[in-house]
Amino acid sequence: MAVVVMKFGGTSVADVDRIRNVARHVKREVDAGNKVAVIVSAMAGTTNQLVAWVNDASKSYDRREYDAVVATGEQITAGLLAIVLQSMGVKARSWQGWQIPIETSAAHGSARIANIDGKALRDRIETGEVAVVTGFQGIEPEHQRVATLGRGGSDTSAVAIAVAVNADVCDIYTDVDGVYTTDPRIVQKARRLPKISYEEMLEMASLGSKVLQTRSVELAMVHRVRLRVLSSFVAPDQMSPVRLDKLEDIGTIVTDEDEIVEQQVVSGIAYAKDEAKITILKVADKPGIAARIFGPLSDANINVDMIVQNVASDGKSTDMTFTVQSAELSRTLDVLKAAEKDIGHFEVQSSADVAKISVIGIGMRSHAGVAAGMFKALADKGINILAISTSEIKISVLIDAAYAELAVRTLHTMYGLDAV
Ligand code: ADP
Ligand code: ASP
Ligand code: MG
Repeated sequence: MAVVVMKFGGTSVADVDRIRNVARHVKREVDAGNKVAVIVSAMAGTTNQLVAWVNDASKSYDRREYDAVVATGEQITAGLLAIVLQSMGVKARSWQGWQIPIETSAAHGSARIANIDGKALRDRIETGEVAVVTGFQGIEPEHQRVATLGRGGSDTSAVAIAVAVNADVCDIYTDVDGVYTTDPRIVQKARRLPKISYEEMLEMASLGSKVLQTRSVELAMVHRVRLRVLSSFVAPDQMSPVRLDKLEDIGTIVTDEDEIVEQQVVSGIAYAKDEAKITILKVADKPGIAARIFGPLSDANINVDMIVQNVASDGKSTDMTFTVQSAELSRTLDVLKAAEKDIGHFEVQSSADVAKISVIGIGMRSHAGVAAGMFKALADKGINILAISTSEIKISVLIDAAYAELAVRTLHTMYGLDAV
């Protein structure tokens, strides 16, 4: 017997027929004697619709009410799945985040899970009752308000529940059958990775591969949760129930680095199109300027990603380029304008037509020349690099958005990742 957390994303629960399909996956586990908690997302498109209604209602809205609205999507799915399970003779009940309770921080719209007391839930699932839990949400305990975890947050709910009930495995069912070397919808030759390390998965997620929400990987890494990505579109009776000694047979398992025998130098390529580039022209080249630019941005909770400062040719003024999330572009420009007195006069250029392409691999720690190869491959295709940033296991470049797919495909082939 195993305690299994199963999470189903929006496409997997897009209509009642698909919810029936999900219920069959759950029933398979229950029939095999496994104890199950299911985490569900909103039906495909629902969260977008809810967000659009909020934006339509008012341009500047109360974040707590935004959460009150967008949390409803998951509530529908949880209730429907519990009904379908019951109709199949499976004992089940739905749980909303606040009923468990899943306690969160007060950062409405992107709250963090602070605490889950999983004992009651574990006791219930031990009796054989399936717990169907709403993903993406919890409750902020001080004011007792519903809070949501940010887009894609149901993955994080699933891992957090897995930690709280001390599950043996956390299975993330989605619309692809695992984690690929790059987005399989962009590169046909992408390959499924049977295993990926937590570190690499964390970089892939944070650099734009939305197959798992970044925080879910962070949490799994800290608590060493056995995390698996697999497809809900495989017929439920074609899959065997979870067996802990056979977890590697399907999907992708996210695991410790030393469990991966055959390590490529580059394991995956991620891309993100939601960055914007800002260049501040002709600021004084003197100590303290960077602090005067980036201090106010940080005070406004704006995350700055890549930063490039050019050497002043005249020794007096310099240009500074950096990136932020494109959704933050106009707020960033406002903050800079407000800080102009402090920074001194400057001109500013900005563009949201940029993409960040990243190559990721723990093999980079011990191999030189990965960056040089990347720059040459892009140059051969005439792709201009606007900014570069690196860490121990990744290299990111900023390029024109128009070349994003070409760049991903080119690098995928160059690093030998194409499926044969
Ligand atoms: P869900 O609704 O199940 O949470 P998401 O749409 O959030 O699903 O995530 C699954 C999608 O992630 C896939 O359809 C795929 O297009 C995309 N994706 C991006 N990068 C990768 C990758 N490296 N491997 C697999 N899928 C990826
Ligand atoms: N429904 C939420 C979203 O679309 C959360 C999730 O699907 O993980 O972002
Ligand atoms: Mg998702």
